[in-house]
Amino acid sequence: MTLVTTRPVIKPLCTRHHSLMALGEFGEQAGVPVQAYKCGEADCTRAYNSSQGYFDLVDGSTMLLQMEQRDCPDCGLPMYLRSRQADGSETWRCAQIGCKSSSQSSAGS
Ligand SMILES: [Zn+2]
Ligand SMILES: [Zn+2]
Repeated sequence: MTLVTTRPVIKPLCTRHHSLMALGEFGEQAGVPVQAYKCGEADCTRAYNSSQGYFDLVDGSTMLLQMEQRDCPDCGLPMYLRSRQADGSETWRCAQIGCKSSSQSSAGS
């Protein structure tokens, strides 16, 4: 079990809808409820937490890990999408306290 100090409040965005996700508990893993941020769109299964990164939540409990996850170049934790501009450029942040890492990327073609 890895011990990670994460920020108490982070605001990850859904990577599909780019809307703010809300913290909740979903299903169980090894008998422990999984805390994750979840997209509010009706049929969106997108979720994020700082230990798994982005994943899809199927049937309320099954986690499907994503390949499009970005890991922090400094500490290796899954990063979250913090903001997305109209021109498609994205800001990703690391969720760990003390790690200032963030990266910019352009989604333009
Ligand atoms: Zn969504
Ligand atoms: Zn980091």
